[in-house]
Amino acid sequence: MSTTYYVKCALKSKEEEARGIFSCTFNFDRKRIMELKPGRFVMVWLPGIDEFPLSPSNYDLETCTIRLTFKVRGIGTQTLSTIDVGDAVFIRGPYGNGFKVPKGLAKRNNKPVLIAGGGVGVAPLMPLIKDLFHRDIKLHVVCGFRSSDEAFFIDEISDLLENNFTISTDDGSIGIKGTVIDAVKELLKQKAFSYVYACGPEMMLFKLHRMLLDKGVPHQMLIERYIKCALGVCGSCIIDGFRLCREGPVFNDVKLKKMKEFGRYKRNASGVRELVS
Ligand SMILES: Cc1cc2nc3c(=O)[nH]c(=O)nc-3n(C[C@H](O)[C@H](O)[C@H](O)COP(=O)(O)OP(=O)(O)OC[C@H]3O[C@@H](n4cnc5c(N)ncnc54)[C@H](O)[C@@H]3O)c2cc1C
Repeated sequence: MSTTYYVKCALKSKEEEARGIFSCTFNFDRKRIMELKPGRFVMVWLPGIDEFPLSPSNYDLETCTIRLTFKVRGIGTQTLSTIDVGDAVFIRGPYGNGFKVPKGLAKRNNKPVLIAGGGVGVAPLMPLIKDLFHRDIKLHVVCGFRSSDEAFFIDEISDLLENNFTISTDDGSIGIKGTVIDAVKELLKQKAFSYVYACGPEMMLFKLHRMLLDKGVPHQMLIERYIKCALGVCGSCIIDGFRLCREGPVFNDVKLKKMKEFGRYKRNASGVRELVS
C-alpha cells in the first residue's frame, strides 16, 4: 500500500496559533490527500529525532497541502516547531478510521450536532466542522482552553458558525469561565443534540462520555494511545483489544462503553501500563 511509504514534504508556511501551539502547512501528494478524511492521522518522521502521529487540521486538494496543528510537548513537536519554510520532513499515511457521519444525521429530529474540543484536541476536529457545515448539518461547536493565550482557531470557527459557537476557559479570560464539560452541561440544559463528536484530554472525554450515556446521546470520540508502527502490527496502541491505529482512533459510544481502559489506563513508549491523568 502506498501509505506505508514516506513522502518527503517541504514546509510551505508556519504559524504560532497560540502559546506553544503551532500550525505547519506542508506540500503533500494529491493521492494521499484524497485518502484523508476527518479524524484520520499521518505519521511525521524527523530522522534521528522521533516519529509521531498527528491528525491534520486541514487538507486542501487545490493547493495539495496539509496543515498539521500541534502542541509542543517533547523533542519531536519541539523540533517540528522550529523548522523553516523549505525544510523537509517525512510523512506516511493517512491511517486510521476517521469520524463517521451516520446516515440521516442531518434529519435526526432537526436537532443540531454538537462538536466539543478541549485544548489541542480542537485541531483534529477542524476538518469535521468544515465537512458537516458544508453538508448543511446544523452544528454547535464548543472549544475549551486553559486561558485566552492558549486559544486558537477562534476566527476560523466563528466565520463559519457565528453564534453557534461557545468558548470556555478555565480562568474565564475569554468566553465562559469553566471547563468544556461545564459548557456542554449548560448547553444540554438549553437544547437537545442529535449527536456529539469530541476530541481532547482523555479525562475530559471520559467525563463527557459518561454524561452523554446518561442523557442517551450517541457520540464518537477521537482518543490517543502511543502509536509506533501505525500498521496494526506492533500492538503498541491497543486499547481493550482494539488497535487504535486500525480500528481507531475514533470510537463510538457502543465501543467506548465496553472499554475498561478508556479513562483509566494507557501504555507508555515501553508498553508499560500507566494511569491516565
Ligand atoms: C491519532 C492521534 C492523533 C494526534 N493528533 C494530534 C494533533 O493533531 N495535534 C497534537 O498536538 N497532538 C496530536 N497527537 C498527540 C501527538 O502525537 C503527541 O503530542 C506527540 O507524539 C508528542 O511527541 P513529542 O516527541 O513532542 O513528545 P514526547 O516527549 O516524545 O512525548 C510526550 C507525550 O506525547 C505522547 N506521545 C509521544 N509519542 C507518541 C506516539 N508515537 N504516539 C502517541 N503518543 C505519543 C505521549 O503521551 C507522551 O507522553 C495525536 C495522537 C494520536 C494518537
